[in-house]
Amino acid sequence: MSIKAYRIKINGIVQGVGFRPHVYRLAMEFGLKGWVLNSPAGVSLEVEGEETPLGDFLDRLQKEPPPMALIRSYDIQEISPAGFRDFTIKPSDDAGEIKVMISPDIAVCGECRREVSDPKDRRFGYPFTNCTNCGPRFTIIKDLPYDRAMTAMASFSMCRECQAEFNDPSQRRFHAQPNACPVCGPHIRLVDGQGQVAREGACELLKAGKIIAVKGLGGFHLAVNALDAEAVRRLRRGKRRDAKPFAVMASDVDTARKYCFADAEEENLLKSPQAPIVVLERNDGPSLSMEAVHPGINTLGVMLPYTPLHYLLFDQELKMLVMTSANISDEPLIIDNDEAVKQLGEVADYFLLHDRDIYNPCDDSVLQLTKLKTVHFFRRARGFVPGSIRLGTEAEPVLALGGDMKNTFCITREGEAFLSQHWGDLNHYHNYVYFQQGIELFKKALKVEPQVLAHDLHPEYQASRWAKQQKDVKRIEIQHHHAHLAAVMAENQLQGQVLGLICDGSGWGSDGTLWGGEILRGDYRQFTRLGHLKNVPLPGGDISARRPYRMALVYLFSALGEAGLAWADQGLLHLSREEKELLVNKIGPHSKEPLTSSCGRLFDAVGAVLGICGVNNYEGQAAAELEAVADQNEKGSYGFQVYRDDHHLLMDVMPMWPELIADMGKDRSTASMAQKFHLTLVKMYTEALGRIREETGLNRVVLSGGVFHNQILLTNLIKGLTERDFLVYHHQKIPPGDGGISLGQAAIASEVVTKCV
Ligand code: ZN
Ligand code: ZN
Ligand code: FE
Repeated sequence: MSIKAYRIKINGIVQGVGFRPHVYRLAMEFGLKGWVLNSPAGVSLEVEGEETPLGDFLDRLQKEPPPMALIRSYDIQEISPAGFRDFTIKPSDDAGEIKVMISPDIAVCGECRREVSDPKDRRFGYPFTNCTNCGPRFTIIKDLPYDRAMTAMASFSMCRECQAEFNDPSQRRFHAQPNACPVCGPHIRLVDGQGQVAREGACELLKAGKIIAVKGLGGFHLAVNALDAEAVRRLRRGKRRDAKPFAVMASDVDTARKYCFADAEEENLLKSPQAPIVVLERNDGPSLSMEAVHPGINTLGVMLPYTPLHYLLFDQELKMLVMTSANISDEPLIIDNDEAVKQLGEVADYFLLHDRDIYNPCDDSVLQLTKLKTVHFFRRARGFVPGSIRLGTEAEPVLALGGDMKNTFCITREGEAFLSQHWGDLNHYHNYVYFQQGIELFKKALKVEPQVLAHDLHPEYQASRWAKQQKDVKRIEIQHHHAHLAAVMAENQLQGQVLGLICDGSGWGSDGTLWGGEILRGDYRQFTRLGHLKNVPLPGGDISARRPYRMALVYLFSALGEAGLAWADQGLLHLSREEKELLVNKIGPHSKEPLTSSCGRLFDAVGAVLGICGVNNYEGQAAAELEAVADQNEKGSYGFQVYRDDHHLLMDVMPMWPELIADMGKDRSTASMAQKFHLTLVKMYTEALGRIREETGLNRVVLSGGVFHNQILLTNLIKGLTERDFLVYHHQKIPPGDGGISLGQAAIASEVVTKCV
C-alpha cells in the first residue's frame, strides 16, 4: 500500500476559530499521522497516510472547515512521507510576522446551546457558555496576541475542569480563550436603579412591562416586551427617540415568522453565526404595535438571541422583545456597568449586569435581502468586524478616516481592507474617543503603522481635523462622492474607468457647493463630474436637512414661483408664516445660500409635500417613509428634463412639480404618487446615463450613496439599467452610505501612493 504525504498551508481567518482541533479530529477519524500548528501566515500542517483516507481527509478539510473560519486559500503540496508515529498539535511557530486578524464575535453555537439547556450539564443555564466555534472575540480583546491574558477574561482563572477542556485537543474547547463555567467564569446580576437585587427574574419583569438594560456582547441594550405597546412607548419617551424604528429580538424563527415574511435565505441570515438584525417585511400577523415599535415603516428589524444570556430573557409566554441599543438619542453605545446605571436611570427599571468587561463597543449589524436577493448592509458591525474585504491590488498600508456621520475608518494591509465598526456621529465626544482608540487597536492587531492618511475634503469633518493633527504622515484629501464611487469599485474589485451614479445626502463638492445627486466618471486615481441634479439653494445648510418642509418650499418656489408659495401656505403644515418669509428672502433671485444637488434633499422635499414627513427625526426618515408608503404596482411617472449646460449634463425635476401638485388636487393616493416619484428618478437617471454612455463609451455603472438604502430606487435602477445593457455594480459587503466611504478613500489613497513611488 502506498503512503503519501502533503504539506498544507491555510490562509484567512483560521485562528481563534477552532481550526487546529478540527484538523486534529479529522486526522484521527481517518487514522492519519503528522502535525498541525498556528503559524504567522495562518495554519500549517503535514499529514500522511494511505491514499484513500488521505484523499477523503483533504476533501473534508476543504468542504467542511470550522463554521467561523474564513478561508482565503489552501496551498497543498505533495512531499515525501516522514514516517510520523502520531498526529499532534505543535506549539505555535512564532517565527516571522504574525499576519492573522482577530475573529469577529460569533453567535452561540448549537452544541453550546444544548449544554446550556440540559439540566444535567455543568453549564446548565450558564449565560457565558462558549467554545472555539462560538462566543465573544473582538469585543473582549484589549491587546494582541489573542490570549486570555489580553482579554476581558484575564481576571477569571479557569477551574480544573475548564482547564482540562482547554488543554485537550480532542475537545471543542481546546484553546478556547474565553472558556468559562459557573464555577470559574463571569456572573450576572439583576438589580434595580438603586442597586438592590431584583426579587423576580428578568423574564417575569419584562412580562410585567418593565424596561431592562441588558449588558450584551458589544454594549448595552434596552429590552422591553414588544407586544406591550404602553411599555414600548415609555421606552421611546425615555430614549428621546420620536420616530426611529426599534429592532426586535424574536426567541426563534417561528416567532419571527408570525410577524414578518422570511424566506429560506432570510432565515439563513437570521440564523447565521453573525446573527445580524435582518430587516424583514411585516405581514398581517398578530398585533404588534406598529405605531410604537416601527412608526411609518412597513419593515421590521429582527434578530435572534445570539448569546446564552439572551435566552434567559424569554419563556413560553414571552417571545418577542424590543431590543434597542442603550443610548439616549445619538449618544455613544454604553458598555460600562456604572455608566449604564448612571445614564439609563431614567429609562430603565432594572439592569441585567455582569462582570465581564466590554473592551470594544460594537453595535448590532443591520442588513436586508434585496428583491434581487443580494445582501444590503445598513450597518456593518458585530459579527462582521474586524473581518476584511479583499481588494484587487496591494499597496503600502493606508489609514482612511471616513465621514463624520456613521463614521467607520479603514486600514489596509497587503491587499485587504479592514473596516472598523460604526462609531456614529464623531461630533459626540465619546464617539470621537472610541474612534481614536479603535484606530490604535486596529494598528496593533494588524501590526501596521500607516504613513498615509486619507480623509474627506470637508474642512469641518472631525475625522479630517484629526488627520491634520497627525505628524510625519502623508495626507490625501478625497472628494466625498469620489470615495463613494471608489468604494463600490473596490468591493467589486473593478479596475479601469467607470461611470458612478451617486445618490447621497450631501458631501463637500470640489466647486464649494454641496453635491449629492452626481454622475461621475472616474477610477481610483481621479474623477470628473459629468452630470448632476440641478442645483437648488439649501437655506441655512444643515437645518434644512433636518426640516424637509424647508426643502419643499425651495422646490415649490423654484418650480412654480408665486403659485408654489401659495400652495405651501395650505400644504406645508410645519411652515410658519415667519419662517416662510425668511426663507423666501433667502432663496430669491440673489440668494447667497449654499447650493446643493443633493438627491436626499429632493426626497425630503417630496416627502414633505406629500404630507408624509415634514421633519426628519432621524437621518433619511423622509426617504425611508416615502419608500414605505409607495405602491409598487403603480407604473406611472412624472416629467423631468435632461439637458446640457456649459459644463455638465443637468437632471432637472422641475417639470415634475406641477404634475405632482395636480395629482394631489385630484386626490390621487399618496402611495401612487410616492411610487411615481421613485420611477421618475429611475427614468431620469437611466436617460442621463444613456446619454453619457454615448459620449464616453463607458458601459459600467457603479451605484453608491446613502439614498441607495432605498430599495425601490436601487432595485428598479439596477433592473432598468441592466435592461439597457449596462453592467451595474452595487454594494453588497458594506453600506452604500457614509459607513462605506472609508473603503473608497483607502482604495484611492492606495492607488495614489503606488503611482507616486
Ligand atoms: Zn459553542
Ligand atoms: Zn470552569
Ligand atoms: Fe455620503
